[in-house]
Formats: sequence, structure tokens, C-alpha cells
Amino acid sequence: MTDAEENNADEARQAGAQYFLKPSDFVLTVTKLADLPSARAVEVAFAGRSNVGKSSLLNALVGRRNLARTSNTPGRTQALNFFSVGTHLSLVDMPGYGYARVSKSQVAAWTALVFDYLAGRAGLRRTFLLIDARHGIKANDREVMDILDEAAVSFQVVLTKADKVSAEALKSLMTRTAADLASRPAAHPQILATSSRQGSGLDELRAAIAGFLPPDQRGVRL
Ligand code: GDP
Repeated sequence: MTDAEENNADEARQAGAQYFLKPSDFVLTVTKLADLPSARAVEVAFAGRSNVGKSSLLNALVGRRNLARTSNTPGRTQALNFFSVGTHLSLVDMPGYGYARVSKSQVAAWTALVFDYLAGRAGLRRTFLLIDARHGIKANDREVMDILDEAAVSFQVVLTKADKVSAEALKSLMTRTAADLASRPAAHPQILATSSRQGSGLDELRAAIAGFLPPDQRGVRL
């Protein structure tokens, strides 16, 4: 990175950190598309296999312990959970996938809800696809990437639980993942590595999200 790029990245991280100081709240749970809330200025969604650390990451992003809860237990109604951060941003928690023992009809219901949401949501700027840094991309992650490609929704991979792997393993996973994503039209080339436990990578993720907000809505620069 050049000095100028470094400064820009710093500014973006500060703006992201600043925006996420705004109050966050649960908005509603949606199980059918007719119930979708009206879109805020910016909406971003989070998807990932169950247990990937999605609730922990959402809570860490907004600095709250229990805003998002692990509630996507097998057999439960699949739902989209909406959260607000300040007045301009919505975070959407998509149902976890990849349980070993879900029926075909449950998978079909998941796919239908998610695809319809992704394909029809004009305000949705990006889906963050969470991948466990210990496991890398799995077959069902690829199926979700196919859905994202088909719905033409920009998505970005966020590695979770980075604290669980060595720096070398993380680096090699990032290289492999980038190569894997190169042929995917909807994939953002930058891969983020995060640890909710250690707080690493969170400001980069906040910056990526706040980058969608118009400058006057990002909050005062620190
Ligand atoms: P979800 O099912 O995707 O919402 O996953 P959770 O957020 O409930 O996390 C699943 C498990 O992973 C829990 O036991 C968390 O404590 C653990 N976990 C989540 N994030 C991290 C992390 O950054 N580091 C480590 N070491 N564990 C994590």
C-alpha cells in the first residue's frame, strides 16, 4: 500500500468505527417476504454455515453482547433478522445453513426465502459470506455462492475465528480463497479476516460497510 492508500484506509476505519458507535437495535424477524421492512439507506446481509460465528460477529460489530442470538436451530422456522445501526443502516442476519440433518424441504425453504430476498432487495449493497478460518470454503458455501452469483448480489468473504489459526495458516487460506473466488462474478476480491473474540478485523469490516453510506451520514471524523 502507498502512503496515500494507507491514509485512506485509516480514514475509512475511523469513519466505520465512528458510525458503529450509533445505537443499534433489533428491528424485526421476517419469515415471508411480504413482511420485509422498508429499506434504510444502506442494507448489508450476513450469511454463513451454522456455528460459523455469525451472531458473535454481529454482536462484536455493534459492541453489544446479545443483540443477535444463535436461534437458527434445526427444524425452526427459517427467518431473516433485521437490526438497525443509527438511522441509515440495516444489518440482516440470514439463517445459518449446513446442518447435517435438515430435510430437503427445509433446504428448499431456505433457498427460496434467501434467493427471493437477495434477488428482490434493491437497497441491499452487499452480503458478507462468513467462512470459518479453520475450515475454509465448504461445498454448501459454494452452493450459497452460486445463489449469490445468480441473484447478482455483490458478496464479500469474511473469515471468522481468525484467532484459532496461525498467521501462516491464515495467510495461506486467504491466498487459496482469493484464487477460489476469482472466477465468481459477484465476489468482491478483498477477503477480510476477523476474530470476534479478539476484536481483530472488525474496524475493516465496519469500514467496508460504512463505505456505502453517503459521506454526510458516516458521522464526524475522529
Ligand atoms: P452462529 O451459529 O454462526 O451464530 O455462531 P456463534 O456466534 O453462536 O458462534 C459459534 C461458536 O463459535 C460459539 O461457541 C462462539 O463462542 C465461537 N466463536 C464465535 N466467534 C469466535 C471467534 O472469533 N473466536 C473463537 N475462538 N470462537 C468464536
